[in-house]
Amino acid sequence: MTGIEQQDLGQQFASDNYAGICPEAWQAMEAANQGHAVAYGDDPWTARAADAFRRLFETDCEVYFVFNGTAANSLALASLCQSYHGVICCDHAHVETDECGAPEFFSNGSKLLVAASAAGKLTPDAIHELAARRQDIHYPKPRVVTVTQSTETGRVYSLDELAAISEMCKRHKLSLHMDGARFANACASLGCSPAELTWKSGVDVLCFGGTKNGMAVGEAVLFFDRALAMDFDYRCKQAGQLASKMRFLSAPWVGMLESGAWLRNAHHANGCARRFAAQIAGIPDIRLAQPVEANAVFISTSDAILTRLRTRGWKFYTFIGGAARFMFAWDTDPLRVDAFCRDLRECAAQAG
Ligand SMILES: *Cc1c(COP(=O)(O)O)cnc(C)c1O
Repeated sequence: MTGIEQQDLGQQFASDNYAGICPEAWQAMEAANQGHAVAYGDDPWTARAADAFRRLFETDCEVYFVFNGTAANSLALASLCQSYHGVICCDHAHVETDECGAPEFFSNGSKLLVAASAAGKLTPDAIHELAARRQDIHYPKPRVVTVTQSTETGRVYSLDELAAISEMCKRHKLSLHMDGARFANACASLGCSPAELTWKSGVDVLCFGGTKNGMAVGEAVLFFDRALAMDFDYRCKQAGQLASKMRFLSAPWVGMLESGAWLRNAHHANGCARRFAAQIAGIPDIRLAQPVEANAVFISTSDAILTRLRTRGWKFYTFIGGAARFMFAWDTDPLRVDAFCRDLRECAAQAG
């Protein structure tokens, strides 16, 4: 139509954000594209999306819409801290490894206090260690804990693990933030309600990822403790995160939440990860580096095998947690998973 040609990569499992936009999000965006609506969030779509979140989470939370996860996390953390405070996170946390210092920048210098993780998870002991280590005036005062659900290593915090973390937070008077870039995958994995996984487990603020769940763009920031949301609208505007045509950021959420696509998409992606893991079990020289609990599979193998896979056109990253990472999305074709697994088996069988 326009003469713009897109080179077709075929489906790849390098990242869940290689995928496009799911039909439910796309249709809602199209429905919002009828006529005019008030700008900057005072439109019916934005109100309806916020109400859909309140219904889904069974609570009267404050809801904001921003463009991406880095902004959601950074602005949420900034609203929980003063500049002299510290944010406890684990060494695999996206806020530490992949946000270019944005949490420190938007909080005017709150320091990330990084704990050694256990398989990519933060533990109550690690929180205690960092919270209790220094209480003198020369060290930033620990104020917030952030956990990622599901984690950067494809793991999921159980309700018991969250309860233990929350208890440690209360003991040290720390707020609890959850980076939920893949929150839907955790809900699908555990079969828990969004409420159970957040405010009922002591989470004060959740960043709920839309992009990896099937939207074009957008994350929602949910404040379960409404007092913590004070002036968050100004924070968003100052950070360049207030969309003027807000309805196009909020309407896709209406499509995702009201249709149940948010959870269906996550179930599908998680199922593809399990399908992948089941097929590679038992292949010589291939080892699962992490148990498969969400939509990620990490495998450890030789560089020679990885090179052969790349030669066959497969894309993947090895910088996250050391192993080769494969991510599955709302649109993953199970037959493409099978094709990859056949290639992997062949690459592993080649001598050398
Ligand atoms: C993808 C991701 C984000 C958001 O990243 P953006 O690129 O800023 O949208 C946040 N946290 C985790 C764990 C992620 O995987």
